[in-house]
Formats: sequence, C-alpha cells, structure tokens
Amino acid sequence: MKTVPYWLDTAPARPDRTAAEIDGSTDIAVVGAGLTGLSAAVHLARKGAQVTVLEQETVGWGASGRNGGMCTTGLAIGFRTAVARYGIPTAKAFYLAYNDAIDTVEKLTVEEGIDCDFARTGKLNLAAKPAHYENLARTHEALAELIGYETELIPRHKLGSEIGSGYYHGAMADPQGAGLHVGKFVRGLADAAERLGVRIHEKAPVTKAKRLRGTQHDLTTPAGTLRADKVLVATSGYTSSPFRWLRNRIVPVGSFIIVTEPLEQHVVDELMPTRRMASDSRNILYYFRITPDNRLLFGGRARFAMSNPQSDLKSGHILRKGMVSVFPQLAGVGIDYCWGGLVDLSLDQMVHAGERDGLFYSVGYSGHGVQMSTHMGRQMAEVLDGRPEANPWRGMHFPHVPGHYFGPPWFLPLAGAYYRALDVIK
Ligand SMILES: Cc1cc2nc3c(=O)[nH]c(=O)nc-3n(C[C@H](O)[C@H](O)[C@H](O)COP(=O)(O)OP(=O)(O)OC[C@H]3O[C@@H](n4cnc5c(N)ncnc54)[C@H](O)[C@@H]3O)c2cc1C
Repeated sequence: MKTVPYWLDTAPARPDRTAAEIDGSTDIAVVGAGLTGLSAAVHLARKGAQVTVLEQETVGWGASGRNGGMCTTGLAIGFRTAVARYGIPTAKAFYLAYNDAIDTVEKLTVEEGIDCDFARTGKLNLAAKPAHYENLARTHEALAELIGYETELIPRHKLGSEIGSGYYHGAMADPQGAGLHVGKFVRGLADAAERLGVRIHEKAPVTKAKRLRGTQHDLTTPAGTLRADKVLVATSGYTSSPFRWLRNRIVPVGSFIIVTEPLEQHVVDELMPTRRMASDSRNILYYFRITPDNRLLFGGRARFAMSNPQSDLKSGHILRKGMVSVFPQLAGVGIDYCWGGLVDLSLDQMVHAGERDGLFYSVGYSGHGVQMSTHMGRQMAEVLDGRPEANPWRGMHFPHVPGHYFGPPWFLPLAGAYYRALDVIK
C-alpha cells in the first residue's frame, strides 16, 4: 500500500521547481501553490501582472493534491442553516456561489486545455439515519420553494439505482456536482501559470512577512527575500506563524482517504452505477466516489486528529472498516493507497477572504474547497486588481478560534468527542 495521494501518484510528473535563489521584486507574490494560489496566479497573469508563487513544499502538496476530487454544490453549513443565519437573499447568493465555482473549474480546464477527467456526474447526499432523510426532504423543498433550485429526492426503496448498498436511508441528488482528477488539475494549473509567465518556486517556505508600506511586503525564504507590491496568502489548513492572525482563525483538521485496487467494471456498475460524488449526513461523515480508473476512493474524518504518517495509517484502518460496512462486497478487495491532509475549518464553517494588515487572503473552505478555492483564486485576482466587490464573502466577521494561539490545535480530541456524541444522539 502506498501512503502518498493517489492523485499525485497517477498524474504526469512535473519538473523540479526548487528555488535556487530568490531575490528582486514582483508585482504580486502568492504564498501557497494549491488551487487558490495557482488559480489566482493564472488569472492575475492573464491581466498582465508579474506573479511569483512561493510554495514551502511542491505544487499541490497541500489539501489540493490530497482531496476527494469532488466539485460539489452547496455550502458546508447547508442551505437551511444559511437561511436561518443570513436570510434568504444572502443564503441564495452564498449557495449559488458554489455552482459558479464548479463552472469556474470547468471553464479553466477548457481554456487552459487541462486534461483532468472533469465530468458532471452529479452529487449524492446520503441519509445515514431515517431522520436525516426527513432533513434532506426539507432541504429539497426549501431549495425549490425559496430559490427555485431543483434537486432530486430519492427514497430508500429506489436507492439501488444510485448505490449498491443497504446502509443508507435515502438521498438527495444534485446533477450539477462534478468530479475530476485533482492531481492532473493542480499540476495542469501550474503549467498554465508558467506558460503565462508566472514564476513558481518550490521548497520556498515564507518564514517572515515584513510590511513596508500599504500592501508592499518583503517575504523572507531560506533562498532569499522577495519584495512584493501585493501578497496573496493562500495557505489554507497549512497556515503557519508568519501569518498568525489568519492561523488563529483556522482549525486544521485531518481528513483521510483510502483507495482500492482497480475494480472490475461490473463491480463498479453495482457499487455506484451513476458514478456520482457521494457523501453522507453524519458530522463525522464518509465521502466516496469512483476514480477515473475504476477504483473506489473512500474518505472521512475517521479520527479528529492532525494528519501525519501514523495518524493516516490508523485512520486508513478505521476507514477500511467503514468502507466494508457500507459496501460489504468489498471485504476482500485490496487497498492500494492511504493518505491524509488538513482541512481548514473556520469557526462558522464559511469562507473568509479579503485584506488584513496589507495582506490579501482566502481561506476557510471547511472541506468544500476544490471548486471554491479555484473560484476564489479567480475572484481574488479581481480583488487584487482593485475590485473588492468581486469577493462573494466580503464584509463577513472572521471569528478568532478561542484558545487557539500557539502550536497545533490541542482541542481536536474534545471536538471529535463532541461530534461523535452528536452523531449518536441525532
Ligand atoms: C483529505 C481531504 C479531502 C478533501 N476532499 C474534498 C473534496 O472532495 N471536495 C472539496 O470541495 N474539498 C475537499 N477538500 C478540501 C480542499 O482540498 C481544500 O479546500 C482546497 O484544496 C484548498 O486549496 P488551497 O489552495 O487553499 O490550499 P492548499 O491546497 O492546502 O495549499 C496551501 C499551500 O500553502 C503552502 N504553504 C503553507 N504555508 C506556507 C508558507 N509559509 N510558505 C510557502 N508555502 C506555504 C502549503 O505547503 C500548501 O501547498 C478536502 C481536503 C482534504 C484534506
């Protein structure tokens, strides 16, 4: 079994972009070569800006190369919670921003010629308990009545057309959801950025950001210092101390994935005949899909823990049990990949983007970032170009995580116990 992300292992290899020496100046520095940073770089370069990307590891090393490759509709908090919190017009705008975001991904793949198996298979929300199906039915009705948005409700007795499992109690399907090979996508974005003249420096951690005046900063790395007129911080769940204000507003939570060996076509047709992107209704949820080469990818927040090699393997073990409880047919199937990554949860599970102390940022995707990080890269390119109204999340209060000042988040096991208890009760 390989303990590297399947996506990066099966994407075409890229050149080594290790920074030899960094100096001089740039119009815009982007910190982080994930989907946010690379999408921003592409869109800024298209406008004629000189852009330099600084990445502490390699392109796609963060969550962008480690996720489920699911571009799904809907907010992390769900539509009805958004209506209760923000009112119908704002909830509608926030909800539909995710559809715009999927369109942004699709458009980029076409415009930049990125061959990454993008497919509008649709998304499946699965009810883990009978009461959860009632909730899905209420969401289905609210979407139709309040904003005229069509989804399909699938009762348990019809679920066989979507999934070969007796584990769930019904589902809500949204045809707008899509899947892609995210390793090919993130590496393709880096290639597109370079074609547009962007400089990408790997193994270039920003250890210090010194504000000179306005939005101008000196960014220190072990390979030298770069002066940037504007800086976009796109570091998500991997945000560290040079960006302390942001770091103290993000809880980095491990999410883990296993991928089976390739399955026979008839097995795939039995497990997931429609090949939709699926996730269930628990707080500590499972999400799964078929990969472009017919494997089952099965993920979840198996443990409330950080991702590291030991943690990933422990989680992989738990996930395998979970996979077999959902799909007993897979009891004898081999697992070829197991890995983990960090999700950037914000306290209100909303995206937060804007400018603070002269630094631009977009973070807080809360597990729904494949489409939204790509979209926010595009929107932040507009913001950096002087159009703050392009930011769909502007003006939102970004709450500080209480007690999170230094080091890794000590409270993760407590949060895990809380959400596990909720899953038992509700
Ligand atoms: C296991 C897992 C499964 C997921 N599944 C899905 C899914 O199916 N669908 C979905 O919509 N979302 C999913 N997500 C979330 C999604 O992957 C992220 O929201 C998205 O990739 C964030 O992209 P990003 O570019 O903002 O951050 P990242 O991809 O995390 O990139 C941040 C980069 O910043 C770099 N960095 C950090 N600090 C510095 C520094 N000081 N100097 C230089 N570089 C630095 C890091 O090395 C990293 O490469 C998942 C996440 C995980 C972890």
